[in-house]
Amino acid sequence: MLKCPHKNQKHYAKGMCNHCYHKYGRMSNADACPHTDRLVYAKGKCQNCYLNDYNKVKRRMKKDITLNSKIQSKTEFASKSLVDSLEENLSQQYQA
Ligand SMILES: [Zn+2]
Ligand SMILES: [Zn+2]
Repeated sequence: MLKCPHKNQKHYAKGMCNHCYHKYGRMSNADACPHTDRLVYAKGKCQNCYLNDYNKVKRRMKKDITLNSKIQSKTEFASKSLVDSLEENLSQQYQA
């Protein structure tokens, strides 16, 4: 178990104060990518793999968003009038 020298600080986790835990406590090796000899950066991956994934996801999300917004603006327009007429039909049915 790791311990930090700040005995007067409030204990945070793993025998370390808040400051030291965030500095040293999360220093474990990556296990979600092939580089298990590297320090984990985030989500169990090394910095390189995590940033690679992050950039991929970001790029994909950007693509998805532009695609979705194109589709959405089309379907929204179509479905809005559809929903409106459906709602009209329904309310007429209920009133009758
Ligand atoms: Zn400390
Ligand atoms: Zn890696």
